[in-house]
Amino acid sequence: MSEEPCPLCQKNKDMRKPKLLYGTPVCKKCYYRFANRRQLAYFLDWFFWRILMMFIGAAIGVIVAMTGGRDSETLRLWLTLTTWLLLPVFVLKDGFTGQSPGKAICDIQVVDERTGDPAGFVASFKRNLVLLVPFVPLIVAFLLCKGSRWGDGWAETRVIWKRYANHPVFRGGLRCEACQYDLTGNTSGACPECGKPLSANNLALLSEQNAAAGETDAVTTTG
Ligand SMILES: [Zn+2]
Ligand SMILES: [Zn+2]
Repeated sequence: MSEEPCPLCQKNKDMRKPKLLYGTPVCKKCYYRFANRRQLAYFLDWFFWRILMMFIGAAIGVIVAMTGGRDSETLRLWLTLTTWLLLPVFVLKDGFTGQSPGKAICDIQVVDERTGDPAGFVASFKRNLVLLVPFVPLIVAFLLCKGSRWGDGWAETRVIWKRYANHPVFRGGLRCEACQYDLTGNTSGACPECGKPLSANNLALLSEQNAAAGETDAVTTTG
């Protein structure tokens, strides 16, 4: 196995002790590069969110002062209310085609585990809700290295490196979306397990694999 190059960077320098990313062995460098991107994206989102809170907080302060509300109790009440009203913004941050501002900067994206489509607001809500629990963001920062983190299971999402969006490491290989049956080498165009026709996503992946096999084996016959 140590002779196999890293599927992401195609180098086999660090493949003596590969790391598992979504169950696929990749080199240490790629593994940590992806994890660092995700950590940076999270930090940026948190930072942007704080700035947004500061601006809105300042605006409220000005409005309260202008309307003659001099007492700090009213101001404090408004600021607390704002914090709570802005929490959904943080939780829904991945709902814009799977990319929060931080994720867009870091070239990563949240996609549906099964279809590969960008995550929507429901999925974003499900995967980020857990982050509102104290200390969970700290634990998640370490857990996300393996690929899926807390919240991804419930949301049925995975985070991908957009540059490698079509790569099997991030696409999750060739599996039937309905029953998870391995469709490698499929020629019938339907899942032999449940009979469902192959999705466009899987058909594209299958033709890619056939093309790759054709290059090495010189197989020219295609069903
Ligand atoms: Zn690599
Ligand atoms: Zn199936």
